[in-house]
Amino acid sequence: MDLRKRTWAEISLDNIEHNYRAIRGSIPAGCRFLGVVKADAYGHGAVEVSRRLERAGADYLAVSCLDEAVELRMSGITLPILILGHTPREYVSELIGLDLTQTVTCEAKAIEYSEEAVRLGKTLRIHIKVDTGMSRLGFLCAGGHFEQGIANIVSACTQKNLDPEGIYTHFAMADEPGAEAEAFTRGQFALFTRVIDEVKSSGITFKIRHCANSGAVVNYKETCLDMVRPGILLYGFGDGGRLGLKPCMRLMTHVSTIKHIDEGLPVSYGGAFVTSRRTRMGVIPIGYADGLLRALSDRCSFISESGPAPQRGRICMDMCMIDLTDLPDVNLESLIEIFGEKQSAETLAAAAGTICYELLCSVSKRVPRVYVD
Ligand SMILES: *Cc1c(COP(=O)(O)O)cnc(C)c1O
Repeated sequence: MDLRKRTWAEISLDNIEHNYRAIRGSIPAGCRFLGVVKADAYGHGAVEVSRRLERAGADYLAVSCLDEAVELRMSGITLPILILGHTPREYVSELIGLDLTQTVTCEAKAIEYSEEAVRLGKTLRIHIKVDTGMSRLGFLCAGGHFEQGIANIVSACTQKNLDPEGIYTHFAMADEPGAEAEAFTRGQFALFTRVIDEVKSSGITFKIRHCANSGAVVNYKETCLDMVRPGILLYGFGDGGRLGLKPCMRLMTHVSTIKHIDEGLPVSYGGAFVTSRRTRMGVIPIGYADGLLRALSDRCSFISESGPAPQRGRICMDMCMIDLTDLPDVNLESLIEIFGEKQSAETLAAAAGTICYELLCSVSKRVPRVYVD
């Protein structure tokens, strides 16, 4: 079956590996590398990306939930896998059976997991998550919560049949410019190391202490500790050009219909765009059900072999229109790049008022991934 018949995403695993090596080269020797492959590896295909990372020498993978981890294990991935989100206690036997590492974010969950593991007569490997300022998941340890936070972490780590292999936290602003973001990030890191030291005085140490997401890998080398945890860098973004990363996804379609329409005609739903000249209008088979954000309507161009074609009218579920009047060489079947090589996903994301993360993982299941190397 030809995967390129409608709209498709070309994925370069060689570029994933290139980025992996570039990141590896920028972190201290001996530091472990965890590749974040949640959300289907930011849209790139978690199984394929994980296989390549495993082959290239990564030490760990992370996903958001049990189902994502199951998919990797069923595909033969043997690397350690950390589940970043919550797993209900009913699934502890799966966690242990599939040799997964579960994040523990509070004492109550540690107790639940421990009870299940004891009942099964087995041990669950865990990583403790510390909330140092993200105000999302983790043991609250900031300010007046410090003492209680430490006590709760110690309690969690000493529950029966839990193996606390690691401890981690997540930065909220490591990728943001400015003195305020820098002070906040340094404050998070200082609190994280203070928590580790304090827990150590109760005799508990962790083999893997980790906190560096992509922003921290690039901007705060001292936070690499025992393992780094980059996501977006692997997919080619977020280094500000400093690591020479390459984008790994190219979202492609082609012109499926061309019509000449008169001046003064409304185009697409709501007639929000009206032609200001006689227009050679192309229809391309990609819409918001493919992940092309509707917020981009009338705010972007897509790239033909002979240059950019402005998108016109509201983006529909399955298709949208582009103005080919000034691109006479573009014909039926001509290739159109949505983003990838000629137009960065970051440029298109900015036009939609969002970040490239959202654009990449919005590319929907309907869009076949074509591995091009
Ligand atoms: C998603 C995620 C990462 C990776 O973030 P990037 O900004 O893509 O590097 C790291 N750690 C945690 C806990 C995450 O949820």
